[in-house]
Amino acid sequence: MRPRDLVTGLADLVLGARCPGCGRPAPGACEQCVAGVVAVRPFPVPGLPSGLPPVLAGGWYDGELRQLVLAAKEREALGVVGLLGGRVAAAAAAWLLATGHGGPVVLVPVPSSRAGVAARGLDLPWALAGAAAARLRAAGAAASRWRGLRLVRAPRDQSELGRGERLANLAGALRGVARPPDGVPVVVDDIVTTGATLAEAVRAGSVAGWVPGAAAVVAATPLRGGAR
Ligand SMILES: [Zn+2]
Repeated sequence: MRPRDLVTGLADLVLGARCPGCGRPAPGACEQCVAGVVAVRPFPVPGLPSGLPPVLAGGWYDGELRQLVLAAKEREALGVVGLLGGRVAAAAAAWLLATGHGGPVVLVPVPSSRAGVAARGLDLPWALAGAAAARLRAAGAAASRWRGLRLVRAPRDQSELGRGERLANLAGALRGVARPPDGVPVVVDDIVTTGATLAEAVRAGSVAGWVPGAAAVVAATPLRGGAR
């Protein structure tokens, strides 16, 4: 156990654990937050640039789902990775149902920077893809996780960048690995905002000889005035 986890764990004992979604006292995500998150039907994300395969999200990046994603990212709530991975699985399942695709599905997580993984101790997209593959297999679908995208260089933090700046920031940042396992590749990420990361993933995969059939994300950033 890392010191920060120990501190958090001891503080939980003293103060009482709180739900990372809403802050109510609860050991992990509370029943209300879980119920609210899983009640959302996965949907195709609107307003993304053309040229992307269908992008399905398990919810909007808002409210309790936003708080849960942030908590998982900051490694404050590892217990919610299974819940969030379930949203990725639901998004992938919605695409399989809509297209009649029988699988197998190869979940390809967007790579995290080494610095980010070192700081957080968690590669969230990789963990989400693992949890989602397990959920899909439990539902009877053939699904695996594959490290088919590598980071060539670490892009700048793009939270403050617009779509054009993000595209420039990410161009050439990823490299696709050749010869994916048998199945249709589905790119996995935690959040989609402008779609720039997914566009770079599709480009890198295409160069390596494979084309994602879809992308599945936990949550989509809501449109602001109809634009991303
Ligand atoms: Zn809650």
